[in-house]
Amino acid sequence: MNDTCLFCRIIERKVDADLLYEDDHVVAFRDIHPQAPVHVLIVPRTHIPTANDVRETHTPEITGLFQAATKIAVDQGVDQSGYRLVMNCHEGAGQSVFHLHLHLLGGRRMQWPPG
Ligand code: 5GP
Ligand code: ZN
Repeated sequence: MNDTCLFCRIIERKVDADLLYEDDHVVAFRDIHPQAPVHVLIVPRTHIPTANDVRETHTPEITGLFQAATKIAVDQGVDQSGYRLVMNCHEGAGQSVFHLHLHLLGGRRMQWPPG
C-alpha cells in the first residue's frame, strides 16, 4: 500500500470506483475516461510501479491480471467480438498512473497500429 498512489487508494476503498471484480491478487474497475464502450482497469493489490518493476515473486499477481481479464471479457460480452489488453510503461508510452495496470478495451473495432 502506497498512500500517495491513486490505485492503492481505490484498492483500499479510500477513493470511489466502479468495481467490477476482485480476488486475492487483483482488483478491476471501470476507467473514469473510457476509450471504448468497455474500458476496465485491472490492477494487482501489490503496489508495483511499472512493468519494469515486475519480478519473479510477482507471478501470482501477473497471472491474476490475465485470469481476471478473461473473466471480465466474458462478463462484459466481448470475449468473442474481441478485446485489447494494453499496459503502458512510462510516460513515453502513455503511463499516467504509476501502479501497474492492464487496460481491457472492447465493444468497438480496434485500429492498428495504436497511436
Ligand atoms: P495509464 O495512462 O497510466 O496507462 O492509465 C491510467 C488510467 O487511469 C487512464 O486511462 C485514466 O483515465 C484512468 N484514471 C485516472 N484517474 C482515475 C480515477 O480516479 N478513477 C478511475 N476509475 N480511473 C482513473
Ligand atoms: Zn499503488
